[in-house]
Amino acid sequence: MANDDPGLKPATKVVTGGRRDEWTGVPGQPGRTVNPAVWRASTHLYADCAALAEGKGAANEDGRFFYGRRGGPTQWALAEALTALEPGACGTILYPSGVAAIAGALMSVLRPGDRLLVTDNAYDPTRNMGLGLLRQFGVRTTFFDPLDLDAFRALVAEGAQAVFLEAPGSLSFEVCDLPALAAIAREAGAWVMLDNTWSGPTGLAALAMGIDGTVNALTKHVGGHSDLMMGAATGNERLYPRLRRTAQQMGQVVSPDDAALALRGLRTLDVRLKRESESALAIATWLAARPEIAAVLCPMLPGAPGHDLWARDFSGGCGLFSLILKTTDPAARARFVDALALFGIGYSWGGFESLALPVDPARDRSVSPWPPAGVDPAATLGVRLSIGLEDTGDLIADLEQALDRI
Ligand SMILES: *Cc1c(COP(=O)(O)O)cnc(C)c1O
Repeated sequence: MANDDPGLKPATKVVTGGRRDEWTGVPGQPGRTVNPAVWRASTHLYADCAALAEGKGAANEDGRFFYGRRGGPTQWALAEALTALEPGACGTILYPSGVAAIAGALMSVLRPGDRLLVTDNAYDPTRNMGLGLLRQFGVRTTFFDPLDLDAFRALVAEGAQAVFLEAPGSLSFEVCDLPALAAIAREAGAWVMLDNTWSGPTGLAALAMGIDGTVNALTKHVGGHSDLMMGAATGNERLYPRLRRTAQQMGQVVSPDDAALALRGLRTLDVRLKRESESALAIATWLAARPEIAAVLCPMLPGAPGHDLWARDFSGGCGLFSLILKTTDPAARARFVDALALFGIGYSWGGFESLALPVDPARDRSVSPWPPAGVDPAATLGVRLSIGLEDTGDLIADLEQALDRI
């Protein structure tokens, strides 16, 4: 079995991806290193004028020396490893942050006069991109409830050139019917993209479900150690050439040092996500039985909103979920979060360390209800937890003493 066999499982692919001989060895020298070197370069040198002329023409291809902005073996290895993880992918573009990847993906398909449909549970910078940057370029953005297929079908019928999804929503954790939404959009000729940061490239075969491209904030799970900012967009055959052209025109590039850090994170992605998911599920189960909690929004938890679709479509999860408190007093919520000793308070997630964040998704949605159906409408105060790699029992003990402060 070759190490680029597409039949290999994700746990194997995160280990083998991108480790080509020519990126880990030196010509004429036997043996090679496990990891590609950090190739720092602006100028790539050419053998002669004829080679230079060729480089400007047809040879401006992925994986060939050209100029520093096109990257070198360190960035190529990372992009290739990410592409290998997504069945149906043609290539991956790296960006200096997850938000830059979202902007790059949307700018590569939208034109003035187009209409973009964005899921109402989208990450708020995605929302603001529709309301700000894209509006400036003549694109209209309409938000839709990801759980209402009929309303979505009606919006698509009015005309839409692109659809941007996020599943589960990274504050409110709705799981939408991805294949059904993608089929409706594609039938109308619209591009379909998904922010897949939550389950990451190992947890969902999105392109195989009819989605044209996925965006991943590598800052989160792939980096995994809270020391890196990076994003990626992976496209099918239809989308990838557009992603590439737009990224080149916008001058997007990541440093080889950062690419090496992301590659290091990627090698342990599968084992970290499995450990986090197991711990998060145990903690979510414990929280669901506590009297202070109105709802636990964790798709991996049987009976929680979205669990059935998650179990049908996803092959993995992660440590990120939200809970809704019964208290309606924001000061009581702050006492709970402030009392946590093992959870840091801060943005981002997916690192080795646990985090807690007060969240109020109602502020960043316009057409879907908060709290979700089935939860006491008076209970609106959310707390998002990112479960890290600490001992599960220690984290539960910490949550227990903090809940007592409510
Ligand atoms: C953090 C995040 C992003 C953006 O990533 P950055 O690297 O912080 O720009 C995009 N989508 C989701 C769902 C995120 O949580």
